[in-house]
Amino acid sequence: MHDPRHHLQGANFSLLPPSTNVMSNSEPSSFIQNLMNSLNMSTIPPHPTQNVIQRGGDIQVELANLYLDIDQIQRIHAMYQSGQIFQQLFTESIVDQKAAQTVLGAQGLDIMQLKEKDLKDLGNRWSRRWSKKNGPGHGQKERVLLQCQCGSSSEARKARDDMKKAKQGLPVNPQNWSRKMPYDFTGCLAHIDVTYSQTSSCILRIAGIIVHDEACDKQEMQRLPPIPLHSHVWKIALKQINEGASIAAIQSNNRHFYESQLYEGQKGLDAVTANVRYLFLPQDSSRLYRMQARTQGVDLLQPPENNIDGWLDPQSSQYKPELAQAIFHYKARCRPSDRFKICIHTEEMKAAAWKYAHGGQLILDGTFGICDSRLLLFIGMAIDEKQHGVPIVFFLFSAPTVIMLLGFGIGKRP
Ligand SMILES: [Zn+2]
Repeated sequence: MHDPRHHLQGANFSLLPPSTNVMSNSEPSSFIQNLMNSLNMSTIPPHPTQNVIQRGGDIQVELANLYLDIDQIQRIHAMYQSGQIFQQLFTESIVDQKAAQTVLGAQGLDIMQLKEKDLKDLGNRWSRRWSKKNGPGHGQKERVLLQCQCGSSSEARKARDDMKKAKQGLPVNPQNWSRKMPYDFTGCLAHIDVTYSQTSSCILRIAGIIVHDEACDKQEMQRLPPIPLHSHVWKIALKQINEGASIAAIQSNNRHFYESQLYEGQKGLDAVTANVRYLFLPQDSSRLYRMQARTQGVDLLQPPENNIDGWLDPQSSQYKPELAQAIFHYKARCRPSDRFKICIHTEEMKAAAWKYAHGGQLILDGTFGICDSRLLLFIGMAIDEKQHGVPIVFFLFSAPTVIMLLGFGIGKRP
């Protein structure tokens, strides 16, 4: 492939620092991350029929969602600047759709693989990096950004993960990650941004770099791809976890369903050659928790305190009035020395408080560290007719930072 790097010499390239500085930076992870975040210059033409999946007047290929090293970022930047990228709009005519299918087909892709994740060809080298839908209902369109695995930089991926962990105050793994993707890294620049109609399955626009580098073209699969869990297993597990089931209960139910062949598409499937599995493995649990958070509107890319702040702020698009109503005291943690405080008292709790605690006994139960953010929880309880504890109020607060390191945060006035 033609190497566009020499285009950079002398070009006005204010986004990127001189390459000699790159390795001397004391924080390479955050440096790469910042560089990736600055990569939003890739304007492609809007689709005439639709402006929803496009921000403002110009459309950007969301390159910041790709995992790229510094060299790749520079080369991709140069290709976008010099217009050496693929970009084409398609109407819903048979001729246009055939042309679009040919472009995707040459990449081992088709529209069904984009629509149904279960139908992904496990042998192809594309990984989904970003997607966006333009709202529910008829006429819904989706934009999907895929990256060639040969171009997916494990270092950049780890840098992003480290950054996220550092932001949340979590420990960062100093070791490099071992590569689990089926293909080794070659520095390939290929990525593809496809917009299609959910209802008609017509392809409306394809943009990106669809030429792979030579090493990528020659490379055979190095590792077997992970076999995905069937969507029906996820669906049942998600329903269970939303009802409060433990992972052990989910696994036991999964085994029962599996042995009785109750899952969709399970009967008659050859387990040896199938591209899908039905047994829920311990490593699936973290993804299940993430899916649960998403279905409940929790954005895990945001630190928890930002999510909570958004739910309680009437000016925020994330505002949740039912939550705001149940919270009678909230204090954000703006500085490290501040304590995060939140006091929760739902309508049911209010009723229980009047019924069982008014003029009666109030019991306080304290729990130290209910999650990895070391939040402290005190539950105010009353006793009902059956002598059972009924929660009537939750007091949640963070330990002050210095004390948090020692693992406790109560006993002294904050
Ligand atoms: Zn490639």
